[in-house]
Amino acid sequence: MKYGEKSKTGPEFDRWRVTHPECGTADVVALSDENAILNACREWGVSWGVYACECTVMRLGKAEKARCIRCGRVAETAGQGMCNQCRSIAAAERRQALNRVRQEPERRQWA
Ligand SMILES: [Zn+2]
Repeated sequence: MKYGEKSKTGPEFDRWRVTHPECGTADVVALSDENAILNACREWGVSWGVYACECTVMRLGKAEKARCIRCGRVAETAGQGMCNQCRSIAAAERRQALNRVRQEPERRQWA
């Protein structure tokens, strides 16, 4: 079974809130707490192997299907009403924007 596909009964997704002292908080949809941490680290763009042990996970409840506000796909959504995939993309875009802002003053300084 490929990622995103469901069997008739379907896996039961839960919503999780993952918190890391440096990375902050991410609301994700996952099958288990381990998966939730993996998803959160992907969103933060950090190495799971390094950050997982410092993460705390809280189960928020059953994930409900909703239409993703970004891609329009009906999927389990968490945080910002987006599916896992779109949240990762949005988070990567946020990080890129942040990096640009951080790099701007340095570039000016050395120009
Ligand atoms: Zn989406």
